[in-house]
Amino acid sequence: MKVDFYRHNLIEEDVSSLAEVLASQFLTVGPLHRRFETEFARYCGAPFVRSVNSCTAALHLALDGLGIGPGDEVIVPAMTFIATATAVDHTGAVPVLCDVDPNTGLMTAETAAAKISEKTKALLPVHLYGNMADMRALADLATKHGLHMVEDAAHALESERDGIRPGTLSDAACYSFYATKNLTCGEGGAVSTRHESLADTISLTRLHGMSADGSKRYNVDYQHWDMKRMGWKYNMDEIHAALLLLQMDKIEARHQRRGQIVARYNQAFKGRSGITLVHAPGRSAHHLYTIRVAAEQRDPLLRYLQQNQIGVTVNYRALHQLTYFRETYGYQAGDFPAADEIGRTTISLPLYPSLSDAQIDYVCEQVIKGLAHNRKEDYINRGSTQINAD
Ligand SMILES: *Cc1c(COP(=O)(O)O)cnc(C)c1O
Repeated sequence: MKVDFYRHNLIEEDVSSLAEVLASQFLTVGPLHRRFETEFARYCGAPFVRSVNSCTAALHLALDGLGIGPGDEVIVPAMTFIATATAVDHTGAVPVLCDVDPNTGLMTAETAAAKISEKTKALLPVHLYGNMADMRALADLATKHGLHMVEDAAHALESERDGIRPGTLSDAACYSFYATKNLTCGEGGAVSTRHESLADTISLTRLHGMSADGSKRYNVDYQHWDMKRMGWKYNMDEIHAALLLLQMDKIEARHQRRGQIVARYNQAFKGRSGITLVHAPGRSAHHLYTIRVAAEQRDPLLRYLQQNQIGVTVNYRALHQLTYFRETYGYQAGDFPAADEIGRTTISLPLYPSLSDAQIDYVCEQVIKGLAHNRKEDYINRGSTQINAD
């Protein structure tokens, strides 16, 4: 049996609306990205949404729009994808890493508070795997120190905790529609925000800082455009918006299937020695299913599963272990012990709606076999080294 790490469902969609886009006048900055923004805002319960071409762009523009730049510091968990931190770099500010909860891998009010300095301007929590950080506690911390807060909600489309959705207590929540995310169009992203002024700023900065977009410029009487401020080329095009619009009414059904898959994995792994499960409060988006194994077992298990046709990955090795962050900011190997431990012990298993029960059972069986196999190899290797040494 072969089990891919991820498979999208786009082929199931009726793509005739894409043909309409191709036949229409506007391939980019037309009516569909605005319709997507309206529908996405309704889904998120957010007053304002601006679509862009990645979550990285969304994070960059949200931070920029809040006035964050050179000389500022933004607190980012050491357990996340690199884009959370590099988006801070893009503004000229410094991403200051903090440690995380040892089980959930989430930034907490305590781990963030330990890194607050005179220069801190914002907190940037990540809802890792789809499990939400404690936004109430983080919002209290942000208020106490007069900090902004931007959420990396790339994993958290369907998440909720303590009645709070991403974007409810922060200045902005940033989403990804990258190829492997719960809602995808290949590449895409969005910012949701409670602040109309931030949304207005992002309308400019996502498109060169220009005062009028293409579809407006060519209408009725000609208008000259102005460049109002520094901007980037981050807007979402009509083709990607059309793909996203096709899937909006399927988010909940797909999320339900993800929940069933997670329950089946948990049932199979519950109480197994050598496997630690992640337990987080709230409604998870179930973006990634991860287990933890002993550090010396992790890489052998990755290889064993790959050899048995199962797609696996590591989300993530801790940021302070990566060359760029070590060399640029002088981080040391032992700096964030909890993030580091997760980075050395975590494995992500396949999780997507079209996974069959038989495939899930095969993955579970191979994980258990793989651990036993590696323990035996380890025993034999140690035994033979001893014999050689003697
Ligand atoms: C995927 C991801 C991003 C980046 O999203 P892009 O749309 O690829 O820019 C940022 N943060 C996290 C946690 C992610 O998983």
